[in-house]
Amino acid sequence: MVAYIGTARVQELVSRIGPARFIEALAGEIEADYRRWGEFEKSARHASHSPVGVIELMPTSDGRLYSFKYVNGHPKNTANGLLTVTAFGVLADVATGYPLLLSEMTFVTALRTAAISALAARYMARPSSRVMALIGNGAQSEFQVIAFHRMVGIREVRVFDTDPKATAKLMRNLAALRLPELRVIACATAAESVRGADIVTTATADKCNALILTPEMIEPGMHLNAVGGDCPGKTELHVDILRRSDARIVVEFEPQARIEGEIQQLESSETVTEFTDVLSAKRAGRLGKHEVTVFDSVGFALSDFSSLRYLHRLNGEQRDAGAEIDLVPILDDPKDLFGGLVNAGSRAPGHPARARTAEGSFA
Ligand code: NAD
Repeated sequence: MVAYIGTARVQELVSRIGPARFIEALAGEIEADYRRWGEFEKSARHASHSPVGVIELMPTSDGRLYSFKYVNGHPKNTANGLLTVTAFGVLADVATGYPLLLSEMTFVTALRTAAISALAARYMARPSSRVMALIGNGAQSEFQVIAFHRMVGIREVRVFDTDPKATAKLMRNLAALRLPELRVIACATAAESVRGADIVTTATADKCNALILTPEMIEPGMHLNAVGGDCPGKTELHVDILRRSDARIVVEFEPQARIEGEIQQLESSETVTEFTDVLSAKRAGRLGKHEVTVFDSVGFALSDFSSLRYLHRLNGEQRDAGAEIDLVPILDDPKDLFGGLVNAGSRAPGHPARARTAEGSFA
């Protein structure tokens, strides 16, 4: 049997710990895995594009466990009452190839994206950072605020979205959370939200080369956490921000970021740093308080691997057993797959064995 974590179980697991502690614990798992970067099989994700969106597969393995995530990105979906991003994933045992866990990953993607955003900011933003601008107040936004409040010490968030209803929703949800000492200020423009901020998070969704941030908006020492540019032809930053002489750009996995990130706008000769090198102190996350730092996040398979393994462990540690599904046949004789399909001799826990009649219908 394969463990199954659906949306209701993720809600349960997260609410038992609380979203802030969950994100921080997840960030610890992600950090530990990025520190053993060399042990993982890595590839840019496989993307299937359409005029309105993308469907992607994201695999990785450390030789003991294997994972993949299915994820989509459809910015116009919300107009029809659907999410922009949905996801699910599988964790498997490399020794047998058997799946261990099938899990929802729509909530988990938001949790892990917030976790690595805040983790990167710990290494890249000025330690005194207390004010964050958040442009794009949709599905990812609360997760980002919770993570930056908990892990970075953000105490003022200036929020902006072209859709005032999204901003009102974010403010309502944050008010209900009562995060200690957090001030949330709605702004009339992106430029207003950015002015004087220590950190700027962009989490907008539009399948175009948007100019959410332009060079004149950027102040010395800012850290930019660019979340929404994650597909070819889908970016948020003006290229001149990336080309500032004092800009330091960090990505998760360079070959994928070159295709999908803000840095798709740069020449391949223009250098960037991988996050693992910052964690191992091979490269600095920031040199000096005036440098502009950019975490050009697109979402990499390793963060999903860490998340699935963490969820699987957490699920198993609970006193109430989580659900299981009969995703793989359980047979008395593994060579008798056909018998397992048609005969009463097959064992499929939870399902009574069924016999096949001569006519071929199940009795
Ligand atoms: P969403 O559709 O729920 O929210 C996006 C918000 O951006 C909407 O409220 C929309 O009104 C707003 N917006 C669009 N254009 C804007 C503009 N010019 N100025 C201000 N606001 C604008 O999407 P989401 O699930 O919150 O995801 C946000 C983005 O993050 C998407 O582009 C998604 O693909 C990306 N994403 C990246 C990662 C990652 O790992 N880097 C993970 C998840 C999502």
